Amino acid sequence: MGTPHKMRLIMMGPPGAGKGTQATFIAEHFGIPAVSTGDIFRANVSRGTALGVKAKEYMDAGEYVPDEVTNEMVRNRIQEPDADKGFLLDGYPRTLAQVEELDTMIKSTGHALDAVVVLTVDQDEVVERLLQRALIDGRTDDTGDVIRRRQELYGEETAPLIEVYRDRGLLIEVDGMGQVEDVTQRIFDALDVVPQS
Ligand code: ADP
Repeated sequence: MGTPHKMRLIMMGPPGAGKGTQATFIAEHFGIPAVSTGDIFRANVSRGTALGVKAKEYMDAGEYVPDEVTNEMVRNRIQEPDADKGFLLDGYPRTLAQVEELDTMIKSTGHALDAVVVLTVDQDEVVERLLQRALIDGRTDDTGDVIRRRQELYGEETAPLIEVYRDRGLLIEVDGMGQVEDVTQRIFDALDVVPQS
């Protein structure tokens, strides 16, 4: 692996694919912040901020928070000094409008995206994982109905982004099934061949 710096990465995958877990390891390795839109929304919900109040109703229903709200939040976050040297986005972009907005944000800094990692998983297994997680974390959106809605939205709104990034030559598909460490290793192996900007 080359000098760990200046990586601008996206982590994609359906709800429960393990994006957050892997994002943390990968970001740490490259010395860049992992920016999880879901985590930022949840932090705002628990602090009771205006953003949190706005986001909560969508999240609890398994719907996407409106693009304007999410875009502005990400724009502010990646302008922070710790993201100068790169970042790993977990859970963003999820819509074509977000893809375009992110392009504008990155372009304005004179940088480019380096890679988009997509975790592929078995849907049934993932529902199991999410229901298990609900028992541990108590996330209010990890209930059967809401999980199904999140999966459906992923298929309709987010899965099409895979082809967009494939066409740009940025896509890296990684098998997300199996042990956490094995998946991490697969991601590192795949990223090893990505030239760093
Ligand atoms: P999941 O595993 O379901 O993808 P996340 O923690 O990433 O969980 O996201 C939880 C919720 O936060 C989503 O269901 C959605 O309501 C909201 N959210 C997160 N990221 C975005 C985004 N990029 N655009 C719109 N809504 C988002």
